[in-house]
Amino acid sequence: MRECDVLIIGAGPSGSLAACKLLKAGFSVVILEKLDFPRFVIGESLLPRCNEILEECNLIDTIKEQNYMLKGGAIFINEEKKEQHIDFRENLGQKWATSFQVKRENFDNVLLNCAKQLGAKVFHRVEVFEYDNENDIVKAKDINEEILEYKSRFVLDASGYGRVLPKLLDLDIPSDLKLRNAIFTRVKGEKRREGDKEGFIDIVIHDDNKAWLWVIPFSDGTTSLGVVCKEEYFKDKKLSKEEFLDDVIFNHKYLKEKFKDAQKVTPVGIINGYSSSIKKMYGKGYALSGNATEFLDPVFSSGVTLALESSNRVAKLIIDELNGKKVDWQKDYEDYMNMGINVFREFVYAWYEGKLRKIFYSRHKSELIQKSISSILSGYVWDENNYFVKDTKNKINALVSMVQ
Ligand SMILES: Cc1cc2nc3c(=O)[nH]c(=O)nc-3n(C[C@H](O)[C@H](O)[C@H](O)COP(=O)(O)OP(=O)(O)OC[C@H]3O[C@@H](n4cnc5c(N)ncnc54)[C@H](O)[C@@H]3O)c2cc1C
Repeated sequence: MRECDVLIIGAGPSGSLAACKLLKAGFSVVILEKLDFPRFVIGESLLPRCNEILEECNLIDTIKEQNYMLKGGAIFINEEKKEQHIDFRENLGQKWATSFQVKRENFDNVLLNCAKQLGAKVFHRVEVFEYDNENDIVKAKDINEEILEYKSRFVLDASGYGRVLPKLLDLDIPSDLKLRNAIFTRVKGEKRREGDKEGFIDIVIHDDNKAWLWVIPFSDGTTSLGVVCKEEYFKDKKLSKEEFLDDVIFNHKYLKEKFKDAQKVTPVGIINGYSSSIKKMYGKGYALSGNATEFLDPVFSSGVTLALESSNRVAKLIIDELNGKKVDWQKDYEDYMNMGINVFREFVYAWYEGKLRKIFYSRHKSELIQKSISSILSGYVWDENNYFVKDTKNKINALVSMVQ
């Protein structure tokens, strides 16, 4: 039986950031990771709130050294090529007004290396399959099917889409968001934006928002491109995933022009059923962070922000608990996280119900509302000075009536 203070399942941004904080506080950390790194994972567009957390954890300089594409905001483009710009600089006074577009195989590896340098013991190709909560024992198997047992004072599940503890402890609940497909690839040679808008993400509305696309430019000249739609919309077209992606691009006024000379540099991938929810984010001797808690939807690029926010928060609470302090997990973790998640959730609903589109494209909104929206889309969903942070749904509805 091997022993450590904290056993972390998964070496994504959530696992690595938590590991860095725990190691700096003097605890021993083991990370068990199912895959070899570097590995591909979807989710390449970050929000300014990520930078703030990375700065707080003394990781921002290392990230800046990677020369990632600077992301200054998001541009929503409709079927008629009409653009609505969300510039992160127009915010409610938050310090960070930019973030990065990152290839996750690189970004996640950089963060994991920081954890290794601080002393994390990382084991790749080791898959966790059992958790004995009574005795605090995690069981995993390596590529030779050898069983490894770890006893730890605390277990953090940062397994992302693997959702290890939610499955083992029956914590999973289905998301109330519709089942959607994401079909994606990377390309090069498309017509890029120039100047200070070069690094903005494009969110492109297609077919009355039955589908939308992301366009994420990277600093190495390649670009991530993906389309998201309900499963039925994809099936009804009776096309392969490659044909479907091409069909959407070449039937959109903006995209067909932008991508006319582009070539795919990676095979087209597809994932679905990625939205998920959870009964509880913590229990005796364990907690969940990042995507292992709740994943909403990719439209506002909130995934890595929520992953970093939750792991930053959870690591502080684990440190307190291991130092013998009383921790109010419900209030200081789950309620706190849900506050931000619920703001994004209402924005996601409003997006698919067509309400946000009305607000974005309306000229009848004040500068303060524009800045409040920009701050939310920058990831500042815990800022209670922001009009949208409390009672989000009613505030969005009120605004839709007003702009109409
Ligand atoms: C279509 C789509 C587009 C997205 N776009 C964005 C975006 O633009 N911006 C954004 O911020 N987010 C985006 N996301 C969300 C983003 O992918 C996630 O929020 C983010 O990866 C969560 O990080 P994490 O550290 O929680 O988990 P992950 O990054 O998934 O890391 C979890 C790790 O755990 C490992 N693991 C899993 N099971 C086990 C096991 N049994 N044993 C050991 N290890 C295990 C995995 O191999 C993995 O390396 C998108 C999501 C989707 C579906």
